[in-house]
Order: sequence, then C-alpha cells, then structure tokens
Amino acid sequence: MVWLQTYEKEDKKYSHLSEQNIKDEQAERIVKKVSRHFKLNANHVVFKNLHTHGGLASRIWNTITMIHCPNLLIVAHELNHFMLWKKYPNRKVKHGSKKWFWNLERIIRYCERKNWWRDEEKRLAEQTQKTFEKRLGKEAYKKTPECKLEQIQSSIKNWESKKKRAENVLKKLNRRKKIWEKKATGRV
Ligand SMILES: [Zn+2]
Repeated sequence: MVWLQTYEKEDKKYSHLSEQNIKDEQAERIVKKVSRHFKLNANHVVFKNLHTHGGLASRIWNTITMIHCPNLLIVAHELNHFMLWKKYPNRKVKHGSKKWFWNLERIIRYCERKNWWRDEEKRLAEQTQKTFEKRLGKEAYKKTPECKLEQIQSSIKNWESKKKRAENVLKKLNRRKKIWEKKATGRV
C-alpha cells in the first residue's frame, strides 16, 4: 500500500492543510480556478463517500471525485495528478517522488497566494446573508399594521370597481327587461 505511506508523508508535511476541511462548493471552486490557471482539464468535480480514499482523479473522464467536505490537501493532491498528466503525459510519476512533491508544492503555493479563494467564499456568504435579511425584512413588513391597512385599502378599491361594473350591467339588463316585458305583454 504505497499510496497509504505517501498520504502519511503528505499529511505530515502539510498537516496545516489536512486539518482544514472546506465546503463542497469551495472545493469545487478551487479545482476550477487551479485547473483554469494551469490549464489542467480537471473539468468535473463529484462528491461522494469514498471509503478508502479521500479523493480520486480520473484522467479518462477529466473528473475529480472527493469525499464531502474534503480538506485542502485532498483537493491539492487530486489536482496534482492532473498537473503531472499534463507535464509528463507519457510517464507515470509516482506518489511521493521528487517530481510529485515539487509539483504539489507549486499548486499549494499558488493556492496560498490566492488564499484558497476564501475571500470569495466570504463575499458570497455575505451576499446570501444580505438577500436573506432583505427577504426577512419583507416578511416582517407584511405583519405590520401599515401593511395590513394597505392590503385592505387595495382590496376595497378592487371590490368598489367590481361593484360599479355590476351596477352598470344591472342597469342595462333592467332596461332590456322592460323592453322585453312590453313586447311579451303586448303579444298577449
Ligand atoms: Zn493520488
């Protein structure tokens, strides 16, 4: 189980990353950003329970599969597979080799420079919070007396206009009724 030893080596070297779990959306964002920057073709991200690995990279499907809420090291590790496939298309670079770590380091350095896009995550969270508050504000307004009064007033206006229309129709119908009554009685 070579890969187990490698993971342990990596975990030790990058323990600060392996302890930081992130949300699925954030992991996907990191994959997309890194893949675009290094032109890696890691185009799809799938999250599911994997019992033996934290993640898997598929060269055929251009897909990274990860456990839910992976840690930063898992994300970097799977991206590294794509990095190596791109750089050494005809060579199998082993987990834990010099080349492996050199490229992994490059990915991690890049991500750290971008703060793993945490600012963006924060900004998005704030935005969601704001829309939520706005909606909450609307809901709260619906319960105030002012809002109730507005609703009743507009309902009254609506029914008043219906009443007027009904009155007009009734007037016309009554006129026609009289005409036809005359005609009917005249015939008798
Ligand atoms: Zn691997």
